Amino acid sequence: MVRQDHPSQKIVSRPQLSVLSRLSMDFQHSQRTRELLARLDGFIEREVAPVEEPYHRELLALADPWVELPVIADLKAKARAEGLWNLFLPDAEEGAGLSNVEYAPLAERMGRSLLAAEICNCNAPDSGNMEVLWHFGSDEQKRRWLRPLLDGEIRSAFCMTEPDVASSDATNMHATARLEGEEVVLNGRKWWSSGAGHPRCEVMIFMALTDPEADRYHQHSMVLVPRQTPGVKVERMLTTMGFVHAPGGHGEVSFTDVRLPRSAIIGGPGQAFAIAQARLGPGRIHHCMRLIGVAELALEKRCKRVKSRVAFGKPVAEQTVTLERIAEARIMIEQSRLLTLKAAYMMDKVGNKVARAEIAMIKVAAPNMLCKIVDWAIQAHGAGGVSDDFGLAKAYAGARTLRLADGPDEVHRNQIGRIELKKYN
Ligand SMILES: Cc1cc2nc3c(=O)[nH]c(=O)nc-3n(C[C@H](O)[C@H](O)[C@H](O)COP(=O)(O)OP(=O)(O)OC[C@H]3O[C@@H](n4cnc5c(N)ncnc54)[C@H](O)[C@@H]3O)c2cc1C
Repeated sequence: MVRQDHPSQKIVSRPQLSVLSRLSMDFQHSQRTRELLARLDGFIEREVAPVEEPYHRELLALADPWVELPVIADLKAKARAEGLWNLFLPDAEEGAGLSNVEYAPLAERMGRSLLAAEICNCNAPDSGNMEVLWHFGSDEQKRRWLRPLLDGEIRSAFCMTEPDVASSDATNMHATARLEGEEVVLNGRKWWSSGAGHPRCEVMIFMALTDPEADRYHQHSMVLVPRQTPGVKVERMLTTMGFVHAPGGHGEVSFTDVRLPRSAIIGGPGQAFAIAQARLGPGRIHHCMRLIGVAELALEKRCKRVKSRVAFGKPVAEQTVTLERIAEARIMIEQSRLLTLKAAYMMDKVGNKVARAEIAMIKVAAPNMLCKIVDWAIQAHGAGGVSDDFGLAKAYAGARTLRLADGPDEVHRNQIGRIELKKYN
C-alpha cells in the first residue's frame, strides 16, 4: 500500500491530473478524414506522383531554377477543384475545418510526396504565415495578404533568424522595427528566410526589436513587408547540405531603412512573441506529421531494395542485421506517429500551452527518427543511396535540417526537462 506521504503521490500534480483525466484518445480516423484521405491518396497517385520526377529534373536543369513551372498552377487548380485545398486551416469556410488530429493523416500522406503539400496549398512557411494572419491579422491585412495566400496566388516568407546572433534565443534579435510617428522603420539582416527565392513571394513577415525598454517578451513586433518595398534585398540564396530547394529556397535578406505604415504591424507593437507562440504550435507540428510520411516512404524503398538484391548467396533482406533494422524502423515510426497524434490531440483538447511538452517532444523525436531511418535506407541501397536516383540523400538533408529549423533539439530538450522537473516542486 502506498503511504499518504510517499513521494509517488506527488508525481502527478493537480493540473496534470485534470488534463490526463480528460484524455480519451480515439485512434480511429473521423469520417471526414477518411473521405479526404481517400480523395487525397487518389489525387496524388493519379496527378502528382507521375510528374514529380520529371518536374524536379526539368527544374534542376534550368540555369535559373527560381521560377514556377506551369505544371504547378495546373495541379493546384485540380487540387482546389477536388476540395483538396487549405486542408491545414481549421476554418471550415476557408479551409477544411479539421482538428489537428484529423489533419495529421492527411499531412502524413502529403509528406510522402515532394510536391503534394505545395499543390494542396499546405506547404511551409505559407501555412504558418496564413495561420498568423487568420488569427491575428487586421481586416485590411487579411484582405491584402491572407486572401491571395489562401487562393494560392502569392507566396510568403518568415524572417526571424539572423546571421550575427544565436537565433535559437529569439530575444537576441538585433534587427529593429522602430516606430516613427505613423510609420515603422525596419533595419537588419535575416537569413534562412524560407520561400524568399520564390518568384511569387510577395510578402515577408519580419520580426524585430521595437521597444528595448519593454519587458523581455513585449519588445518585438512582427511586420508585414511587401517584397518590392524599397530597402528590401535578397542578398543570396543558401544551400542546405548542397541542395538549393528551388524555387522557394532559403534566403539571406537585408532590410535597410524600410518604411511602412504602422498598420503593417501584426497585432500591434510588442506582440511578436505572443504571435510566435501561436505560429510555432500548429505550423510546426505539421512538419512532424509530414516527416512520418517521409519515414514510411524510406522504409518502403528500403524493403523493396533489400528484397531485390542478393549478396553473399542470399537476398540482403535475409541478413539478420537487415531484419533487425527494418523491425527497429517500424517500431520508431509507430512511436513517432503516436506521439504526434497525442500532441495533436492535446492541442485540440487543451490548447497549445498545456500541450507544449508534447509539441517539444515530437519536434525532437520526429526528425531524429527520420534521420536514422533514412540513414539505414541509404545504407541498404549501397552507393545508390547517396546518389540522386532514390531521393534518399535529399530526404536525409531535409530530416537533418529539421533538427535545427524548428529550433535546435537542445532547446526543446531543455524545455521538456524543465517541465518534467517542475512536477517535483
Ligand atoms: C532548412 C531551414 C529552414 C529554416 N527556415 C527558417 C525560416 O523560414 N525563418 C526563420 O526565421 N528561420 C528559419 N530557419 C532558422 C532556424 O529557425 C534557426 O537555425 C534555429 O532557430 C537556430 O538558430 P541558429 O541557427 O542561430 O543557431 P544558434 O542559436 O546559434 O545555436 C547553435 C547551436 O547551439 C546549441 N544551443 C543553442 N541553444 C542551446 C541551449 N539552450 N542549450 C543547449 N544548446 C544550445 C545547439 O546545438 C544549436 O544548434 C531555418 C533553418 C533551416 C536549417
